Amino acid sequence: MSAHEPSIAAPEQEPVRLRFDNTYARLPERFYARCQPASPAAPATVRFNRGLATELGLPDLERARITGIFSGWQLPQGAEPIALAYAGHQFCNLVPQLGDGRALLLGEVVDRNGVRRDIQLKGSGTTPFSRGGDGRCPIGPAMREYLVSEAMHAMGVPTSRALALVSTGESVQRETHLPGAVITRVAQSHVRVGTFEYFAVRGDVEAIRILADYVIDRHGLVGDDGENRYVALLREVVRRQAALVSLWMNIGFIHGVMNTDNTTLIGETLDYGPCAFLDHYEAGACFSFIDQGGRYRYENQPAVAQWNLMRLAETLLPLLDDDQDAAIEQAQDVVGSFPALYERDRLQGMRRKLGLFSEHPDDAVLVDELLALLERQQVDYTCFFRRLSDTAVEPNLDSPVRALFSDPDGWQQWYTRWLERLQQDRGRSTERMRAMHRVNPAVIPRNHAVHAAIRAAERHGDLAPFRELLSNVTQPFTDHPENAPGARPPRASERVLRTFCGT
Ligand code: AMP
Ligand code: MG
Repeated sequence: MSAHEPSIAAPEQEPVRLRFDNTYARLPERFYARCQPASPAAPATVRFNRGLATELGLPDLERARITGIFSGWQLPQGAEPIALAYAGHQFCNLVPQLGDGRALLLGEVVDRNGVRRDIQLKGSGTTPFSRGGDGRCPIGPAMREYLVSEAMHAMGVPTSRALALVSTGESVQRETHLPGAVITRVAQSHVRVGTFEYFAVRGDVEAIRILADYVIDRHGLVGDDGENRYVALLREVVRRQAALVSLWMNIGFIHGVMNTDNTTLIGETLDYGPCAFLDHYEAGACFSFIDQGGRYRYENQPAVAQWNLMRLAETLLPLLDDDQDAAIEQAQDVVGSFPALYERDRLQGMRRKLGLFSEHPDDAVLVDELLALLERQQVDYTCFFRRLSDTAVEPNLDSPVRALFSDPDGWQQWYTRWLERLQQDRGRSTERMRAMHRVNPAVIPRNHAVHAAIRAAERHGDLAPFRELLSNVTQPFTDHPENAPGARPPRASERVLRTFCGT
């Protein structure tokens, strides 16, 4: 990508040793395929996440090493690259075999907090699961994943992380030729609902038990209170998905491809494809080009998450109870608890966004009326909450918020009710403003800003917009200049109407 990148480490150099401890690679062979990454022609590091590398306890790596390792060109010692097997429901259709078709798990490390993390290359060439795909990744989707996953992390949303972005120096053939890249992802685990489905379609109950035990033991997901541990596992996964999707909703995130193969057991956001953020508030917002029916539109995400959890529960039925009817009842009961958990988390999150320290029975109505108002007047969702935060200390200075509304009467009515509601709360107004600033981002990876950053890299090899946007979105709760990328809503001409997987 850049002519000034140092080259990769010389082949005769000893490979770096990373402290891998690869538990997944010790599972039965039918869980994955062993596979080597492709060697790219002329790799160059675009970005390396030193903070994350430190958190992972990686040694201090010089640039040439980083490029070598995270392009797939030079495997570190201790890596055991595997492509994971999984199936999945894609837009409701069960596909019995998907699997890592362009990703390779290099191995696992235990980070400085004692948490086991997967290190995975994506875009590193074909695997036995590639099904006709080329195993490559254009730089655009890799940049999008880097920006959005790091922004999500900075906003406190559980997510896979981005450790490195390396351009390959090769072009990837899509509608046009695009520069290729490898992105290195870090996740607490890559086990998906689709991983369970892979074995369920094969009637392999033994594998489902091994996988469930693996997930429980790896993440310590289940307590010791005498409940059937697989029921307890399902309960925990349901709880985590409810928490996750409520966070998505509250920051205006639309995943875009909530297939079961993109739904993790650990409750992290994974597989950023045609994802997007709301600019103006619109419950039915749907940006993904492949989602013609709008199944994965913004407002439908909680219902889809529950649907996905039911698919997980079905795979676990043989483990839940020996009696099939009892197992089904258990599954329905646990998954049926999703809406209440989700609503609770969402409302709790909304209270935080609105600076409410206490709970009041009418809070849900206050929230619903606000969202209806924002939608009617096409108000920018992120700007609204950020500017509202400022009024917490000086209610008379609401003109920046009011300016977002085309009809100020609707705003005034709601604002009066909110101010009345604040009267019922204890707590000082400065404390309230600070609390609101900590949950209402000033910048997000706005679709048009991401688009502009990708286009600059693709067309001109210009990485400055990517770097600037990344720097902004990884400090989401700090005020930025109004025109800063990620802070400014799109002009009409900049609005992104469709997003693409780009795979
Ligand atoms: P995703 O859209 O990332 O959720 O991927 C869905 C499935 O398609 C997964 O099995 C991927 O591994 C596979 N896939 C996506 N893109 C490619 C590609 N370029 N080459 C091979 N497999 C791919
Ligand atoms: Mg996927």
